[in-house]
Amino acid sequence: MELHRTRKSYYLYDPNTLSYERVYPSTKDRIFTIIRHLSTGIIVGLIIFFVMMRFFESPTESQLRKENKLLQTQYEVLSLRLNNAFDILNDIQQRDENLYRAIFQATSIPESIRKLGFGGANRYEYLMSLPNSDLVVATTQKMDMITKQLYVQSNSLEELVNIGKTQEERAKCIPAIQPLANKDLKHTASGYGMRIDPIYRTPRFHGGMDFAANIGTEIYATGNGVVTFSGWKQDYGNCVMVDHGFGYVTLYGHMSAFKARVGQKVTRGEVIGLVGSTGKSTGPHLHYEVIVHGRRDSPSKYYFMDLTPEEYDHMIQIAENHGQVMD
Ligand SMILES: [Zn+2]
Repeated sequence: MELHRTRKSYYLYDPNTLSYERVYPSTKDRIFTIIRHLSTGIIVGLIIFFVMMRFFESPTESQLRKENKLLQTQYEVLSLRLNNAFDILNDIQQRDENLYRAIFQATSIPESIRKLGFGGANRYEYLMSLPNSDLVVATTQKMDMITKQLYVQSNSLEELVNIGKTQEERAKCIPAIQPLANKDLKHTASGYGMRIDPIYRTPRFHGGMDFAANIGTEIYATGNGVVTFSGWKQDYGNCVMVDHGFGYVTLYGHMSAFKARVGQKVTRGEVIGLVGSTGKSTGPHLHYEVIVHGRRDSPSKYYFMDLTPEEYDHMIQIAENHGQVMD
């Protein structure tokens, strides 16, 4: 028996009747037929799909590729801009180190701390699997370094601001003017160092500076501070001492009158007493001392605020003369 098939029905040849007889397929046969057709279609479809995929890209893929390209370009631009930022930061660091920190006498920040990076490349391992990972890692690394260096730089400037604030206070307090006005000064002032004792006529260390002036001439505090002594002192006679902080103390001797009491806050230029000749003195004058961290220093170093360079030179010459002191 031979089976001939058309779309919907079968014809079966019957040798006995010598004719074809029409046979209708069972439901099962029909389902199989449908499945067979479908699977052939699907396989052919899939083959066509994969061939297309191989040679053509989908709109989504094309879009992604464009975006990817754009991102990569953007990363390159960012990387270049970070280089510029680095140059600027570098310039600021140089200035900070060689200018600002130098001016304020701040300790230098070593390069090893300024340029300290982050340890190891493992830190960026999570980025390594990305396409173009070199570019992404390098850019991220730069960003991290800039952040770190900016942090160090910002701390440095903050430190300088604080130093600057104290510096301002310091400048107000440290003795920086003459204790007598130039117009009130009589002929001479005698300086600090080895001098002939006015009474014993022997060489002796003179720990301050003598300003000859008329009795009653006003004596000024030479910097802001607090009066720590106002009274009689052996040899110095009527004497006032001012503590300026920062290790500086000034002493004013042989006064005829006090214009300041202990505990009083004084500002630079304020009258604290009048010139006299009390104590061990050979004539009306002011004996002035600058004491730095407990040691007497040459007062001539502390007039920088009210003398011109010429006046200063003149004063130094007088101060350095080995003439007689008035004690
Ligand atoms: Zn003296």
